[in-house]
Amino acid sequence: MGSALLRLEAATVRYGERAALDAVDLAVAEHEIVSVLGPSGSGKSTLLRAVAGLRPLDAGRVLLDGADQRGVPPHRRGVGLMFQDHQLFPQRDVGGNVGFGPRMHKAPREQREHRVAELLELVGLPGAQGRAVAALSGGEQQRVALARALAPEPRLLMLDEPLGQLDRSLRERLVVELRQLFGRLGTTVLAVTHDQGEAFALADRVVVMRDGTIAQTGTPLEVWQHPADEFVARFLGFDSITDAVVAGGAATTEWGTLPVPPGTPQGPCRLLVRPTGVLLSAAPAPAPAPASAADEGALRCEVVARTFRGGHVAVTLRPERGPRLEAECALRAAPREGDTVAVTFDPQDVVALPA
Ligand code: ADP
Ligand code: MG
Repeated sequence: MGSALLRLEAATVRYGERAALDAVDLAVAEHEIVSVLGPSGSGKSTLLRAVAGLRPLDAGRVLLDGADQRGVPPHRRGVGLMFQDHQLFPQRDVGGNVGFGPRMHKAPREQREHRVAELLELVGLPGAQGRAVAALSGGEQQRVALARALAPEPRLLMLDEPLGQLDRSLRERLVVELRQLFGRLGTTVLAVTHDQGEAFALADRVVVMRDGTIAQTGTPLEVWQHPADEFVARFLGFDSITDAVVAGGAATTEWGTLPVPPGTPQGPCRLLVRPTGVLLSAAPAPAPAPASAADEGALRCEVVARTFRGGHVAVTLRPERGPRLEAECALRAAPREGDTVAVTFDPQDVVALPA
């Protein structure tokens, strides 16, 4: 991590009493793609604006290539910033938009035209120089905005909700193309989004923000498999969480005794069960006698909702005891609303979170 392209040290931005950015430490290596993920108001845009020099720090430092950026104006930082509303110049054509940065940097005309052509090729709009911006689709405008942000060859490209206004299918396609494009160009990227799917698809590393601080950082897989705490878990959409006490390879909860993976910390915790770890089978007939205190059997649950999600069905369950559970079922195996099912748990999808 010695050669971080970008480094924030205790970076702090205050609005009145409130810290929008609260002593944030973060390093981004050259060629790394980092997604900043978090709910609205968690400080994502403030982070980018501080790095770009659009908002001065109240404390701490921003370093680019090891150099403190205090007092360095935005246009001297060598960073590119692309906002959500990509703000193309409507009166200029595509070539005029993409060539704007190089023209500001007084690049010779021939070099500029070459660069514009090259970038339009890269973003999949070859030969579009003469087209009117107003006549482009949303996705095409997005690509032009991206080409424009890349044109001055920023050493760090920062994107603030770059795909926010696009419809889902286009977004999913562009995210894949962007990742390939950045890889090919070797661009270092810091991209903000509130959409975890987008962040996971784009990034080498994810930074989850909460109230101006970093709640967790890790690869998409690490964050998905081991959310640092309940906030991160719920932000990722995991809602089956309850109090537990872990002893040996089992956790005692309101849902009963759940198996936990080897190495799970012992003692009290919050226990998360991912939907894929909630296994459903047909419920046996109710026991004739009251279940014994040491009942190790399956948990009986009523199906209160089922939602078709394309490849699978999300099933919401009301257990006979304990909070609601979310299960993920194959289309063919999904029970119906009102059914009673028996639930067992796969330890691979049981995660102990700090109490
Ligand atoms: P995000 O991009 O994650 O939605 P922001 O960085 O925009 O969050 O905002 C973080 C916090 O700082 C929010 O509480 C927001 O209301 C506050 N904030 C942002 N910009 C300003 C401003 N110019 N004046 C006052 N408060 C602001
Ligand atoms: Mg924002």
